[in-house]
Amino acid sequence: MIYPTIQTEDPAVYEIMKREEQRQKEGIELIASENYVSRAVLEAMGSTLTNKYSEGYPGKRYYGGNEIIDQVESLAVERAKQLFNAEHVNVQPLSGSPANLAVYMGLLNPGDKVLGFSLDQGGHLSHGHPLNFSGKLYTIIPYFAEKETEVIDMDKVEEIALREKPKMILAGFSAYSRDFDWKRFKAIADKIGAFTFADIAHVAGLIAGKQLENPVPYFDVVSTTTHKTLRGPRGAMIMCKEQFASAIDKAVFPGVQGGPHDHINAAKAIAYGEALKPEFTNYAAQIIKNARALATALQGKGYRIVSGGTDNHLMLVDLFGSKQITGKEAEKCLEHVGISINKNMIPFDPRKPMDPSGIRVGTPAVTTRGCMEKDMQTVADLMDEALMNRSDENKLTEIKEKVKQFALRFPVPGVE
Ligand SMILES: *Cc1c(COP(=O)(O)O)cnc(C)c1O
Repeated sequence: MIYPTIQTEDPAVYEIMKREEQRQKEGIELIASENYVSRAVLEAMGSTLTNKYSEGYPGKRYYGGNEIIDQVESLAVERAKQLFNAEHVNVQPLSGSPANLAVYMGLLNPGDKVLGFSLDQGGHLSHGHPLNFSGKLYTIIPYFAEKETEVIDMDKVEEIALREKPKMILAGFSAYSRDFDWKRFKAIADKIGAFTFADIAHVAGLIAGKQLENPVPYFDVVSTTTHKTLRGPRGAMIMCKEQFASAIDKAVFPGVQGGPHDHINAAKAIAYGEALKPEFTNYAAQIIKNARALATALQGKGYRIVSGGTDNHLMLVDLFGSKQITGKEAEKCLEHVGISINKNMIPFDPRKPMDPSGIRVGTPAVTTRGCMEKDMQTVADLMDEALMNRSDENKLTEIKEKVKQFALRFPVPGVE
């Protein structure tokens, strides 16, 4: 019991919180964007720092009483600079989408052309979805993965960039399992004088953990969420070259946001401190090892992995192509047994977004709980068993119990 006061003061909310905690403990979490934060990060998020208003930046606030809050924000900034080798960092963005809004606002005018990874192939909503601010306010030119390889061909990206001359090139993704060639993106942008913007929301922890190449030294601006592989509180930050510092800071505040969430900034400082420790490098390496092991195990059972494998923490499984199961059916069936994944479009998906051909599967959360490569075989076995028995209610109940017994072997940090 870790919420004794809520239990007595507000049993209704307490009940819900305990049930969710139970779900997190008894299930296998394979959603690629999720993770379990440390107890220290949880404590900071529940702290009295939430009581303060501190519009502005350290040393230049619009409210009094910020001498101490300044220290926590500055500490977060200093640690982030060290972690990513950044010239300037703004830790105030409340989440990934508002961070990206601030980047667009800081560098562009409405209507400007942006080259971004096609959404139905793995780009994020904030990279140009027609209902998102990005698609409404800017002219988005997509680049694609190749049909045969399902990998981005940088020569094609260059061809599009030279033809369209976008004002900004956005490199980043939410559902792509191959490494991004940051240097090549930068070289292409330099040929046409475009700004370079990397959105490393998904892979920030793998970069901080020194397993993937870091775009921060090459790119003008880099945004990231802090709650995915980086394993911090729900939030985001923007890193940039000194020359863009003022434009980015003004775009975040007063451009997009009011007061920062100081309790979250304290939690960010803690998470960055954790990521600076040598153990975090092992964690990041294990995430990738586990993703490769899981991809191999699923392939061994006849599932087709998009592009043939993974270089990072996630993979796309072409369920419809290899097993005639739709992404929606799979999501529902796996949810039923306590395995969380999400349905996802695959490149050149013949099916619709609400019931696509694929699922996205990732290993950051199970790796935090201590799963190793050999456990990925068990995870693949359980997934396959559930999917193959998806219309057998009794069998699914049995599998749910097996999932629970497996999951309970691995403690959830922050809870146990
Ligand atoms: C998750 C994600 C975001 C948005 O994060 P939110 O915090 O959910 O707004 C932005 N960009 C990419 C590439 C992401 O994967």
